Amino acid sequence: MLVRTEQLRKYFTLGRGQTLHAVDGVSLQISENEILGLVGESGSGKSTFGKALIGLHERTSGEAFYNDELLPTRFSAEDHLNYSRNLQMIFQDPYSSLNPRMTILEIVGEGLRIQGKYRKSDIKDQVADWLNKVGLNADHMSRYPHEFSGGQRQRIGIARAMIIGPKFVVCDEPISALDVSVQAQVINLLEDLKQSMGLTLLFIAHDLSMVRYVSDRMAVMYLGTVIETGPANDVFFEPKHPYTQLLIESNPEPDPRLEKTRDHIPIKGEITSPVNIEAGCRFADRCPKTMEECKTVTPATTSLTDSHSVSCHLYQ
Ligand code: SF4
Repeated sequence: MLVRTEQLRKYFTLGRGQTLHAVDGVSLQISENEILGLVGESGSGKSTFGKALIGLHERTSGEAFYNDELLPTRFSAEDHLNYSRNLQMIFQDPYSSLNPRMTILEIVGEGLRIQGKYRKSDIKDQVADWLNKVGLNADHMSRYPHEFSGGQRQRIGIARAMIIGPKFVVCDEPISALDVSVQAQVINLLEDLKQSMGLTLLFIAHDLSMVRYVSDRMAVMYLGTVIETGPANDVFFEPKHPYTQLLIESNPEPDPRLEKTRDHIPIKGEITSPVNIEAGCRFADRCPKTMEECKTVTPATTSLTDSHSVSCHLYQ
């Protein structure tokens, strides 16, 4: 495994003794050259998990490993510098993730500059090379982020992450803020880079069709926990957990002709805030198949096959 976590937890302390259990015991493995898709509604803890995994959040407890090396619970400035060579992140919002006062040369070249071993002319050459690789005009490196479209800014964010030559990249909803017309282009770019650089990706998104399309395996998160994992096609076409089934039924069909003919079954209610979590299944108040034990007993994880597992009393 290139990356794995064991019971990773990230809690946030709120006022009046309350604790937000954003990520609550997530154990996942990602093999080299694999794309693991991580799906779930907003508020399920996907982004927090991605950030805690690569040291952008301090872990509350649990472990995260890169190449079998235990990563620090809290990254120092030196840890960030060392690990950022291999662990990078592409952020969701290409509008707020680029410093508006920096030029594209400064933004994309920053990772090389802070390593302190490249001459200015080398950095400029590498930035030009990477702008070309992501489909941007290298002559525009003295421009500022506001002079680019959303899709172009996301390409700048991708160049910034990739110029370091990372092995593992967390892609946090990389296309959800973009027009539909440019989403496929950015996905194709990521896939090309994955192939050419031998990357391993954690691809976080809420669009299940897209995640199935790009991912080898898929993990579904609900209220800070992973409730189903398996090969992407198995989870998408034969979902076992009631939440995964509803998530897929409520997912828009990309083909508008098919979309018109589909019956959508919306998921009842909204995801609750993961504050002061109690025992029992976290999905019990929204699940159409709730049984008495679901309200008091937390379901364990059952392996349905070597690669497909689910946490639900229906399978125990
Ligand atoms: Fe529904 Fe019970 Fe399964 Fe939870 S454990 S998903 S409430 S059937």
